[in-house]
Amino acid sequence: MLKNHMEVLIENHLPSLIKDTLHVKNCEKCQNDIQALALNNLKPMYIMSDKGMVYTKLKELDLQFQSDIIRELVQAIALVEEHPRHEVEL
Ligand SMILES: [Zn+2]
Repeated sequence: MLKNHMEVLIENHLPSLIKDTLHVKNCEKCQNDIQALALNNLKPMYIMSDKGMVYTKLKELDLQFQSDIIRELVQAIALVEEHPRHEVEL
């Protein structure tokens, strides 16, 4: 099974980046949108999920791509927070 490891890294970073948002932090739809937007702007990193990767290797990749991932997520969060692609219930 191939898995895009960027998805994992993005999921790891998202919670801390949306904790101060008004809407997005409680909205699963918008969080999915943000992940999709960010993933589209980042190079996929496919790994064999069944072989697994040692934790230190993942940490290394995370550090290597951290600034790119955070930059893309911050942009996507701002966009979606301002323009959610669904009706917002108050
Ligand atoms: Zn939403």
